[in-house]
Amino acid sequence: MTPEGAALLLQGGLELGLDLRPHLPAFAELQVALLEGNAQMNLTALTAESDIILKHFIDSLTCYLGGWLGETIQPSVRLLDLGSGAGFPALPLAIVYPQLQILAVDATRKKTEYIARTAARLQLGQVQVLAGRAESLGRDPAHREQYQRVVTRAVATLPVLAELCLPLLETDGLLIAQKGQLTPEEQDAGHRAAAELGGELFHVKHFELPITGDPRSLVVMRKLRPTPARYPRREGVPGKQPLF
Ligand code: SAH
Repeated sequence: MTPEGAALLLQGGLELGLDLRPHLPAFAELQVALLEGNAQMNLTALTAESDIILKHFIDSLTCYLGGWLGETIQPSVRLLDLGSGAGFPALPLAIVYPQLQILAVDATRKKTEYIARTAARLQLGQVQVLAGRAESLGRDPAHREQYQRVVTRAVATLPVLAELCLPLLETDGLLIAQKGQLTPEEQDAGHRAAAELGGELFHVKHFELPITGDPRSLVVMRKLRPTPARYPRREGVPGKQPLF
């Protein structure tokens, strides 16, 4: 990481209320790992240093805004990152919040293997990975209704996310979805899907990504009661035939 990159990371962190100075070496290592991994497989289209730092690292950390992850900073709390890809937001969260127990899930095994290798390289022992699809996990008693928090970034529209993620949450658990700009139509469809799946969409926070000013939204859904047994539908159906 160049001195300019380090300055961007620190400035972005400050704007989120985070002192990232102690974590500079870990983020520098994560940047190297991401670029090395990207040479072997398609992990990210963003390769400029400023993009990696702001649009991956800082953006991932914005899921903490609003304090919805608050009580998860306890070893007993189980947090799942659905569709983690190259480890976002899982790995930046794990760097800044070492107490967080994180399961990073992705449908692509090569990506979960990359995340596992990178977590080991950064000595983030609290990160575990699982290669699989949310639809199958949501029907597996080992994972259904087992998590207090699900985070997800750039994976699907809100009604699809509700079907993929709410089954995994225990009652009172929260889904924190990181989105770009959100249309009123998507928000409305998310409301209806959440209700159908035993939850409620109760909070949307609109904000700007530090420094770039890009529009972002954080959507929070709460699980109110067990999800009906017919959900999630089989693999691929939630995306192809969204509930709303
Ligand atoms: N969260 C990362 C990756 C986003 S790309 C980031 O913000 O950079 C979306 C990822 O979700 C892909 O890696 C894809 O494999 C995964 N994905 C999509 N649908 C999925 C599903 N139903 N179950 C598990 N992973 C899924």
